[in-house]
Amino acid sequence: MSDRMRELIDILNKYAYHYYVLDEPIAADKEYDKLYDELCAAEKATGIVFADSPTKRVGGEVLKGFKKYTHKQRLYSLDKCQSAEELKKWFEKINASYKNTAFTLEYKFDGLSVNLLYKDGLLKTAATRGNGVTGEDVTAQIVTVKTVPLKIPYTGTVEIQGEVIMKKSALSRYNQKNPDAPLKNERNAAAGAVRNLDPTVTASRMLDVIVYNVGYSEESLFGTQSEMVVFLKNNGFRVAEYFKKSCDIEYLTECVSEINAKREGLDYLIDGAVIKVDDLNIRDELGYTEKFPRFSVAYKFEAIEVTTVLKEVKWQVSRTGKINPLAILEPVELCGVTVARATLSNISEIKRKDIRINSKVFIRRSNDVIPEITGIAEHYTDSVEVAPPTFCPSCGSELRYDNIFIYCTNQDNCRDIIVSKLEHYASKDAMDIVGLSEKTVEVFYDKLNLRTIPDLYRIKSEELAVLDGFQEKKTENIINSIKASLNTELADFIYALGIENIGKKAGKELAANFRSLDAVKNAAAEEITEMRDFGGITANNVYDYFHNEKNLNMIDELFSIGLQINDVKKKSGNAGVFLGKTVVLTGALASFKRSQAKEIIESNGGETADTVSNKVNLVVAGSDAGSKLDKAQKLGIEIIDEEKFSALIAKLKK
Ligand code: AMP
Ligand code: ZN
Repeated sequence: MSDRMRELIDILNKYAYHYYVLDEPIAADKEYDKLYDELCAAEKATGIVFADSPTKRVGGEVLKGFKKYTHKQRLYSLDKCQSAEELKKWFEKINASYKNTAFTLEYKFDGLSVNLLYKDGLLKTAATRGNGVTGEDVTAQIVTVKTVPLKIPYTGTVEIQGEVIMKKSALSRYNQKNPDAPLKNERNAAAGAVRNLDPTVTASRMLDVIVYNVGYSEESLFGTQSEMVVFLKNNGFRVAEYFKKSCDIEYLTECVSEINAKREGLDYLIDGAVIKVDDLNIRDELGYTEKFPRFSVAYKFEAIEVTTVLKEVKWQVSRTGKINPLAILEPVELCGVTVARATLSNISEIKRKDIRINSKVFIRRSNDVIPEITGIAEHYTDSVEVAPPTFCPSCGSELRYDNIFIYCTNQDNCRDIIVSKLEHYASKDAMDIVGLSEKTVEVFYDKLNLRTIPDLYRIKSEELAVLDGFQEKKTENIINSIKASLNTELADFIYALGIENIGKKAGKELAANFRSLDAVKNAAAEEITEMRDFGGITANNVYDYFHNEKNLNMIDELFSIGLQINDVKKKSGNAGVFLGKTVVLTGALASFKRSQAKEIIESNGGETADTVSNKVNLVVAGSDAGSKLDKAQKLGIEIIDEEKFSALIAKLKK
């Protein structure tokens, strides 16, 4: 039994390594799950759990507190520079004594540093940096991070340093699944997850660890930073994909600018670049100051966090009736723009962060246009608590509290709800009705009794002509634009409806997957959940919207007025073997990443979908394909295996 367990663990860890560290899955989820279940059963039967068993990754019991860990090698902070001149000065100082020595350049990850102790090939302890000498033992938390190997080939004692991060894509996936308690910032989300006493919370955040240094080792293992990276890679760690080595400061400075330019587009936060002397002997000679190593420096990019005073919290009624807090700030410069407003999620976040009016707060640039308040810098004697609203600030109706959110109960008649619903409907990414701004919608609400989306289409030019500021040309433009919007694309229409949690991207995904409004209307919640990035809550939002009589009547009314939705057509024009075909990929492909296979299909005239329906023409089934394959067989859809798929592509290449 224990031989089989050993074998299972080795296979499962290999699969996980390919999936999480290399980003190149070699097994189907179903195959992994089958072996995993077998291992669980064996562990239960024998009562034995090996040190590197993947079953340890789900997160164990809630801890009472953190133990201390004394680092074998102190963890230092990094000296900083912020301009090319400062970097050059630093470089020249070293170059004066070590002519033509090489430097390496890496990303400076913006997460939480972690120190991993391995002994006899096993992960023994993971600890935070703390004060550099001792940190907190967060082993139970870090074990849940799939990119941290529990077992490595090297059997000596080593401490390996890296950064715990939450990828931007992981954060957005998490938020799609947990729209009630969204995370705002990847760094805080990662740090909060590691410092959480409940390791299952850590596990739920889908963190990564990227390593960059061997801090301590009992023997000399390599002579340079470059060799160190190879050692780390060979031992199964994830290292940064960006790594440069050069003795030319001009070149390295260019690299820093290059990194800065592509920083926004990376899937993780970085706040600078780290330049290090490559040769470890020279590092020893240079040594450390009280706080920093002398052999490395961090080039810090412009701060994305500043402090300012919170002057007021306004409560805004959104199109769904949710009443959101908006922070009004003392204007402050952040990343080159003046900022006077920031978002705050909800009242419970305000309480949790102890955010008060007249206090000094931290604000940080976020992925949204409008920055967020991350915490409190200082309270003053005149700081006052933020009071939640007692009535709807727009219509004065009673409020409904749903978990942490507050809603106006007057859905059909609240002015702000109607105005923002219509403004959203008309916006550029939705129905693109030119000239129908928030202000105009307000005027129409007040003067023309505009209450619903269909009302929009009943507005007559004579009615507009008597309004202030509506000259003939303007009136004509708006009326034409309203009329033109009756012919629309499916994705834009779904988005325009303003369904809770359905943004532009989700609208597009729904349209691409279901292809017609009827199909979206009739989709079961489970079918929607099957789509990537759609969690249970968002799926229910869609389902509920289309199972609400009022909404359905409103849509029918639009159709009777003349609405025409162009269903999503199979792509044409672009010739190719997949021309006009909708293809579903399922199971594990041995020689393609999913994303590659998708791209090949799409660039050859085809489209891909996540779920099998009778709109699908072809299913490519890799090894161990599951329920999608069964469904395709039932529906009589053409199915090909990887070999055939490769053959089709080989033809393309000729
Ligand atoms: P600071 O905390 O700003 O003094 O910067 C030092 C911290 O930068 C270290 O403790 C690491 O957590 C972090 N860091 C991120 N990326 C790297 C890297 N490539 N090399 C060294 N340190 C890094
Ligand atoms: Zn209201």
